[in-house]
Amino acid sequence: MVIKCPLCGSEEVVFWKKGNFDYEKAEAEDFKITDSDYGLFPSLMRCENCELRFAAKMPSPTQLVRLYSEVVDPEYEGEKEGRGENFYRILTYMEKLKKPGTLLDVGSATGILMELAEKRGWKTKGVEASKWACEVASSRGLEVYNGDFLDYPESEKFNAITMVDILEHLAAPGKAIEKAGRLLKPGGLLVIVTPDIGSITARLMGRKWWHLRPPHINFFTRRTLKWAAENYGFKILKVRNYIWNFSLHYLVTRFGIGRRYFKFGLLKKIKLKLILFDSMEGYLEKLH
Ligand SMILES: [Zn+2]
Repeated sequence: MVIKCPLCGSEEVVFWKKGNFDYEKAEAEDFKITDSDYGLFPSLMRCENCELRFAAKMPSPTQLVRLYSEVVDPEYEGEKEGRGENFYRILTYMEKLKKPGTLLDVGSATGILMELAEKRGWKTKGVEASKWACEVASSRGLEVYNGDFLDYPESEKFNAITMVDILEHLAAPGKAIEKAGRLLKPGGLLVIVTPDIGSITARLMGRKWWHLRPPHINFFTRRTLKWAAENYGFKILKVRNYIWNFSLHYLVTRFGIGRRYFKFGLLKKIKLKLILFDSMEGYLEKLH
């Protein structure tokens, strides 16, 4: 069987890294946003054309939708403040480029970004696979479509689309970017945040790089992002490093260290800011 790159379709793909995770055994628990299965990841291929790394044996799109629909992750909400700060930074930069208008948040989870954007004058809608996350978002009065982004109706065009930490979870990242293009008005803004596997951090950490986890089935480099922008009708306005805000509590619980030495409440108050240079934030403008 010929393996093709799920982004550019090239058959020039080579085996890149031997992994130890098989999607046939995957459960929703492995796909939580705050999941901490470090050291587990699928064997990865590398595309010689666009540099995408992707799981040699992809889970099927139906399996992915089923797994994500079952995800329940209350810990995600516990980090609302830190996540809010990340989204605040993104929205601030978006507003430097474009005035607030209609916004579709793809992979909206519990609606933290949407809620923040609404306060700043955006009119938001969301798409989210997890039933649990959709219910949380709806209880906050947010409008979220529960299902696969590729099935989202294309009747309305948006001024902006955000895909924060989403692309790396998708079996067909190219189709998702193409779809975002169809859903944007000319001149509309697409924001992509995704791990950068070409980054120095990723290279130095090797197999220990923390983005190598079961839910991450494809990885971009800056060149991959450039390829996608050029081929799906976008112009790159800016690519910058993602700054990660989180609490010490989050770090400690994710790595399972020192848990018993601290009181959770205190740890949640200690905020950390990390520039790891291993995630990129791309601001793309839809050409026509
Ligand atoms: Zn490719």
